[in-house]
Order: sequence, then structure tokens, then C-alpha cells
Amino acid sequence: MHDLLIRGGTVVTASGPRKLGIFVDDGLITSLSTDEIDSNEAKKIIDAEGMIVVPGGIEPHAHIGGPRQPERSGAEVVSKAALLGGTTTVMDFATQIPGHDLYHALEEAEERWSGNAYTDYAYHPILTNGADEDSISQIKQLTKEGIASFKIFTTSIRPPSPQMQNNHTDFGRLGTIMEQVSDSGSILLVHSEDDEMVHYNYDRLKETDEWEWWNMHRVHTKQSEDVSFRRVSRLAELKKCPIYFVHVSAKEGVEEVSRCRAQGLPIYGETLHNYACFTFQDYRSKNGMKYHTYPSLKGEEDRDSLWGGLMEGSLSTIATDLVSTTWEEKIKFRTVADVTGGHNGIETRMGVAYTEGVVKRGMSLERFVDITSTNAAKILGLYPRKGVIAPGSDADITIIDPTVDKDLSLDDLHLEDYSIWEGYRVKGWPKSVVLRGNISVLEGELLSKPSQGEFLPRCISSEVLEGPVC
Ligand SMILES: [Zn+2]
Repeated sequence: MHDLLIRGGTVVTASGPRKLGIFVDDGLITSLSTDEIDSNEAKKIIDAEGMIVVPGGIEPHAHIGGPRQPERSGAEVVSKAALLGGTTTVMDFATQIPGHDLYHALEEAEERWSGNAYTDYAYHPILTNGADEDSISQIKQLTKEGIASFKIFTTSIRPPSPQMQNNHTDFGRLGTIMEQVSDSGSILLVHSEDDEMVHYNYDRLKETDEWEWWNMHRVHTKQSEDVSFRRVSRLAELKKCPIYFVHVSAKEGVEEVSRCRAQGLPIYGETLHNYACFTFQDYRSKNGMKYHTYPSLKGEEDRDSLWGGLMEGSLSTIATDLVSTTWEEKIKFRTVADVTGGHNGIETRMGVAYTEGVVKRGMSLERFVDITSTNAAKILGLYPRKGVIAPGSDADITIIDPTVDKDLSLDDLHLEDYSIWEGYRVKGWPKSVVLRGNISVLEGELLSKPSQGEFLPRCISSEVLEGPVC
């Protein structure tokens, strides 16, 4: 007798949506069946009649709080909200701090997550400003140990302040980092903006006394994204380094990713669901800094371009760039120089992508699965263990109720005390979630514990590293 059967639902596999039964044993999917399935064949049954059954969501971009970021929500709170929103894997960062190496950063990340995880998890180490040769040379060893992605910033993002560590990597050092990444078989995540342009823009706005937060898109501009993406992709081409551009925000970014991919370069782009749904006009509303995530919201044409990229394929993933804080913390800083970045929307990512993509824009269910799960699994080295409903894969499964049609309220959500999605009308919402065969959320009710999540070692396939496969 099987451990679990999910039956009657429309299951989205790599070959498309189809009515299938899913059998699960020992945490893995063991078989998919088209036959009428008898309830005697499994110890537990989930009836998914009328539901859309997809691989558990993979959040590729979340910043989890720890002792050095006490204002941010920690792994337990964030992974619980993720799970309730249909996400079964969360990828955090392990930020290097000056004077310490990457292993130290990974130990800090493990302390945040171990025993506090409702979801499975992994981390991308971030190399800090002025990273030394020793740290850079750890990339190869770490890749062998299952840490398959690293992140750098091409800008310090903000004027110097004690609030924010400087993680700016100069282009000289970036070349060396790219060589290491390329040789090791990992991928480089890049927060790509032109540092000089960003800081010049800060200076200009200071001089003209336009320091309010709603000018943020005039600091972190479209042109800065344009110039920086081209510079990074050119260096990556020279160094044969695969790149994953995090939070693409502008039409120019989408176009550069698309241009590189057309040439066969292993360049991938991520956007965020708040970037795809709001514009810099929203900064003008009362406490409109609540919408802000670095680099910045852009305009109408950018929002359209981001959706274009998600629909036709030049963007691969939709992420959150999660930083969860209280409302008080989020609206405390009110100038372009210090607004709190990050987006506490990890729980809304799947439901918003479904509503905006599938329901409003006619995105196929396969493409919805690609941008919310499969592509992150492939690009970041979790596939085929994660990101697909197929025999042999982990039984991470999200069941979406397509009949849900309601305005989201704070009562529907489980992170801190505000949400930019309050009042947003969702059409379709995750209802039940299975993580490695464990029924973790059933009809919206949380059944699992924070000891459930496991650390995931990763290995990226050579096809992903050689050309744009997804
Ligand atoms: Zn981020």
C-alpha cells in the first residue's frame, strides 16, 4: 500500500496538464497514473478534484533575519508563510562579513535555519566588498560541497551608512570571481547596477533637494540597469561565466538578457512579483515606500516588458527578494538614502503569479510552473530532485484552488503586520501543500512543524551552465 495518493486533480507535468493520480512513498513520487484510482491503494488520500496540482514553489531569493539583522523576520516565520503560500523550498543568502570567510557566512546561515525550517532550504554565499583571494578561492571547494551559486553586487546600493554593509564588488575582482565560478561549475547571481551612476544620482538629488523616497527610480535608474547589465554580460562572456541576474526591473534589463540568450550565452533573468505589478507612481501614495525594493520600481513600459519576458521566456523566474520587517520598521526611513528595501510577499508569490499570469494574461500552466518552480530548480541546481512532478522526484506538491476569488486581507497572510497585497484580488490560491510526502498544509490549515525542513545540497547540470536552457 502506498503512503499517499493525490487523485482527481489536473496535474501539471513537463509534458503539460493532465488528469493524473500521484502516488507517493517514502517522501518521493513513485508513479503517476491515468487510471481510475481506488482509495484502498494508499494510507492517506488527498482529493484534488477540480484543483490544479503543481510542483511545490521554489523561492530563489529571500533574505532571512538573524542575530546581525534582528529587525528582519527569521527562518521559522518566513518558511511558515512560504509553505502556506505554496512554496516548499526557500533560498536564502549567506553574506560574508569583513574579516571572515565564506564558511563563516554559511555557519551563520545554518544557525538561522537549522531546526527552524517549515520548508527545505539552501543559501547563496554573497562575497563582500574587497573579498580577498582566500575567500574567492573557496568558490571551487564550496561548489564541490553542494553550494552551487554565489552572489555579488556591482554597487554598494546606498550612500555609506552604518545601516548597510558595503557589498560592492569592483570589476577587476569580478573578473577573478567569474573565472572561479566558471571553473567550478557554479553560477553567479548578480545585483547589477552601475555604481558610479547610482552615486552620482544620489549627489544630484541631494543638491536639488529632492531627497524624498519617491524619487528612488531617479537614483536606481533604467539607464543604470542598461549599462551595468551590458558590462556584466560582456565580462561574463569573456570569462565564460554563467550569470543569473537577480531582480530585473527595467525593459532595458529584459532586452539585454534576451540579446545574450539569443547568442546562446548562459544568462538567466529573475524578476519580482512586486516589480511586475507596481510602478514608481505607487511610491507617491501615502507611505508609498512600502512598495520599495532595491534597485527600484520602474514605469509602465517596464512592467509590461517584465510580463513579456515572463510570458515568452527571456525571464526565467519570479522571486520575492524577501525582507520581512514590521510596518513600523518598513516606513521608518523616508529618504532615497535610507528607505528599507525588501518585500515581505513570499506567501503571495504563487497566488499572484497564478492570478496575473494564468488568469489575466493566459499564461500556460506549464509556463506558470516553469517560472515559479522548475526553472529555479534547474538554474540553481536542485533539478530533478525539486521542481517537477515525476517519478523519483521529491513529493513537493502544491494544490491550487482555481475557484478562489477574493480580496486578500491580512487575515489570509502570516508574515509581519502589513502587506502591499492587502486588498489585491486573487483568482486562485494554494490550498494544500505536501513537502517530501508530508501533508504540510491541508485546506489552508498548517499541519507541519519547523523541524520538517532540510538543507539541500545542489549541483547544476552542464547544459544549464553552457547555454540558456530555460
Ligand atoms: Zn535581494
